[in-house]
Amino acid sequence: MAFAMLSCKDKPVDISESTAEMQSAVIKEPTLAYGFNLDEFKVVSDTIRSGDSFGELMMENKVAYPKIHELTQKYKDSFDVRRIRVGKPYLILKSRDTSETAQVFIYQNDPINYTVVDFRDSVVAYKEKRPVTYIQKEASGVIPDGGSLSNVIVEQGLDYYLTYDLSQIYAWTIDFFKLDPGDKFKIIYQEKYINDSIYAGVGAIEAAYFEHNGQPFYAFSYHNDSLDVVEYYDEEANNLRRTFLRAPLKFGRLSSRYNLKRRIRYYGYKVRPHRGTDYAAPIGTPILATADGVVTESTRRGGNGKYVKIRHNGTYSTQYLHMKAQKVKRGEFVRQGDVIGWIGMTGNTGGPHVCYRFWKNGRQVDPLKEDLPAADPLAESLRPGYFEFINPVKEQLDCIEYMPTGQMQDLLTYNQAENAATQN
Ligand SMILES: [Zn+2]
Repeated sequence: MAFAMLSCKDKPVDISESTAEMQSAVIKEPTLAYGFNLDEFKVVSDTIRSGDSFGELMMENKVAYPKIHELTQKYKDSFDVRRIRVGKPYLILKSRDTSETAQVFIYQNDPINYTVVDFRDSVVAYKEKRPVTYIQKEASGVIPDGGSLSNVIVEQGLDYYLTYDLSQIYAWTIDFFKLDPGDKFKIIYQEKYINDSIYAGVGAIEAAYFEHNGQPFYAFSYHNDSLDVVEYYDEEANNLRRTFLRAPLKFGRLSSRYNLKRRIRYYGYKVRPHRGTDYAAPIGTPILATADGVVTESTRRGGNGKYVKIRHNGTYSTQYLHMKAQKVKRGEFVRQGDVIGWIGMTGNTGGPHVCYRFWKNGRQVDPLKEDLPAADPLAESLRPGYFEFINPVKEQLDCIEYMPTGQMQDLLTYNQAENAATQN
């Protein structure tokens, strides 16, 4: 194999990029933003305050009323001036002469999208996106006794969405409702930045390693060319996706397992079998279809309350009880992960939860004990390319050290430190 094993310390470092950056910093460059050269204007930067109206704001900045009227007429649909929101940042670019007339108004809809109103000549308004750069980051963590994945992620100052993304990648293999203390993870992911400095959220997780109960689980994001989809595969090119999700909720608590010998005090400790798996969550939490299928029942009946039943194929059906309301009707086709209803307390239930029932060949079985069928692995013909692709990624993952207290590790800083070390 052409791939050479490198130790974690002697990582090859490309310094050409940072040298180029240092050279360009010497030249004074124009301040370009939102498609304008800000040096040509007198720039006012502020945020919308309570009581501000677009019209008054513009008139205060010497825009003639007919121009404002022209704007509201021409762009009734695309730029609704009544929609400016308190707290949103904006820029006013004024002429540099003594009149200081507002020429351009730039409204920041969100960190990426902005709206420009250009009052010079005939009024024009348009929406644009700021260029986003993706920076690769690494992170890791160990689940402490009594802690959860989201605790560890948040305590490290990492983006909460990583919890969600990780739980999605491993939705079929790891039960995030039941992590063990000592479980660990490492991830390589992207962060989105505007102008290389303003954080705009996490991008995709490129690769992940999760050690659950001493068992290693690798996940590599890979574009499957033959199907034109991005999926996560393990180090042996098996698909991490199963035909069924482990649970019908993104988050919640496994409150009662399938148990044929359950005894309940209320019934004098008589055996009352529980053929479902209960997940507790607040009322209104979305309930997800655990696999693709057709809705065969969406109704209300006795102790089941409002429920949905889905037929997935000739072998499997699933059923979801005690909903507050259903979102799907009989005969509808649903995809895995689609919201089919919301957590409620209809029927016989002591608290808000979904009773998830898993039917195999017409009998109810325990889904947590079923060996659920895996989605198709990567085709044989695509495997050599896949292994070549994941080799360096896997090595990068293996080299990440676990963060006990957890500073997230910025790859750039890491490389710079390495540069400094090799130059000494
Ligand atoms: Zn139940």
